[in-house]
Amino acid sequence: MVLENYLKVQQKIKMLTKNNVLILPVSKTATLEQMEELYKNGIRTFAENRVEGFLQKHKSFPNCSWHMIGNIQSRKVKDLVGNFSLIHSLHREKIALEIDKHSRGKEIITNCLVQVNISKEDSKSGLYKNEVEDFLIFLSKLPGVNVRGLMTMAPFTENPEEVRYVFKELRMLRDELQNKGFYNLKELSMGMSNDYLVAVEEGATIVRIGSEIFR
Ligand SMILES: *Cc1c(COP(=O)(O)O)cnc(C)c1O
Repeated sequence: MVLENYLKVQQKIKMLTKNNVLILPVSKTATLEQMEELYKNGIRTFAENRVEGFLQKHKSFPNCSWHMIGNIQSRKVKDLVGNFSLIHSLHREKIALEIDKHSRGKEIITNCLVQVNISKEDSKSGLYKNEVEDFLIFLSKLPGVNVRGLMTMAPFTENPEEVRYVFKELRMLRDELQNKGFYNLKELSMGMSNDYLVAVEEGATIVRIGSEIFR
């Protein structure tokens, strides 16, 4: 079941683009049995929104890479660093300083995306568009932090066309910043179960899929 769901997502994306899009199964609500079905078929990348989820699951699924997509508390950063191959949800200087400190302590560099709040909903985390450039300049001075791109969450909607502008604006912001010399902003993490096809049309390189896979 779960594998079929994953393959359906993969198929739909292939019909839209020749580009490589990483399908990130969001396992925060998944059972170990559901994850096992993907794991035994070679899927080795999962996303969690809390460090606890990772701590519960990673022993069952060795040799995977894990992505952090949820809000980060500063006292959890020490458990995060070294365990996640990509942090999607960086948007606070205080957290960046913690990530940098623990990364340097472990002699590693932590890959991060900057979370942007395009829709300006109060319930969403992330920087406003006009704050991103200064934050990138701040991050560029932290040797333990490597910025790979931008992430956003669109408002929930039944009709994904209504949130196309969110994905388009994130891509345009990325392009603008690249033109200003931030060349390392390759990744665009955008699109979830109900809107990932629109996000892919607008240039997503990573889609975060929970309920559409782990139903
Ligand atoms: C839960 C979650 C997702 C996946 O949501 P679905 O609608 O279940 O696909 C994606 N991104 C973030 C940040 C999440 O917390």
